[in-house]
Amino acid sequence: MRIARAGVLALACLGIGGSPAEGPARSPQEAKTLVAIREAGRALVPLHERKRPARAGDWLARFPEAGQTFDEYLGSSPNRPGQGWTTLYVQPLGPSDEGQRRLLEATVDLLGRFYGLPVKTLEPIGLEALPPEAGRLHPTYGNPQIHSLAVLDLLKPRRPADALAVLCLTASDLYPQDDWNFVFGQASLGERVGVWSTSRLGDPSKEFATCLRRTLAVALHETGHMFGIVHCTAYECGMNGSNSLAVSDRAPMPFCPECEMKVWWNVGLDPVARYRSLADFAEARGLAAEGRAWRASLEALEARGR
Ligand SMILES: [Zn+2]
Ligand SMILES: [Zn+2]
Repeated sequence: MRIARAGVLALACLGIGGSPAEGPARSPQEAKTLVAIREAGRALVPLHERKRPARAGDWLARFPEAGQTFDEYLGSSPNRPGQGWTTLYVQPLGPSDEGQRRLLEATVDLLGRFYGLPVKTLEPIGLEALPPEAGRLHPTYGNPQIHSLAVLDLLKPRRPADALAVLCLTASDLYPQDDWNFVFGQASLGERVGVWSTSRLGDPSKEFATCLRRTLAVALHETGHMFGIVHCTAYECGMNGSNSLAVSDRAPMPFCPECEMKVWWNVGLDPVARYRSLADFAEARGLAAEGRAWRASLEALEARGR
């Protein structure tokens, strides 16, 4: 069994599928909406830092991705609410303790505010629901892991009829294929299922605030993939690819203007009300940097036309 790059390759996440396609023609109303979205996006640009050049070992140094402009996103026919898809679901998998439950509660709260959809928590599933071949002991370190693709396969037939997407939260360590070390999370753009693990995000009983920030950042990122948003290469952004905890910790949780426009358009959100809600959440949960960022975004949008 080959361990990629002497066992050091570790991906923050993988987005599967999603290919550019011609989007539908725009109605006059939608054209007007797009003008408003672009105008709001421009107002946020001064608040965000352009993507810094990749350092050796960074995600983009290993995977030189092209990124995705807002226009490219519009042309990609991403999953959107509609067709009876109204709700986001979070699926707990495997054992969880009090710390995990607190992380889950906060995640459900933030996902609802960020993506503007109701979020429901499904009944937990035990690890025994996975086939035996979906588990392994890490060939070098010996820790138990579960195969992230097997988790996605488990989710697909259980997806509720009204689910826009189902995101699985597990404390088990994940690996995406035999020659990979681990993965923080993985999502399928087309299948509307994703999984992320808190296994490598710290011990919530000892460093809850750090675990909370990391967990929320991964949840927003993986859910972004399920909305068809690919890795961002334009700004320092929550949708940046990441290959280590150190890189993830340096990246902001909030999304950049380009990625935010995708969310606003996809779900038809009012960005002002959304930033007020996000800032309230971050400030109430002790997420100081995120509170400042979302409050500044709110103020920038409110200052327009004054
Ligand atoms: Zn990703
Ligand atoms: Zn971005």
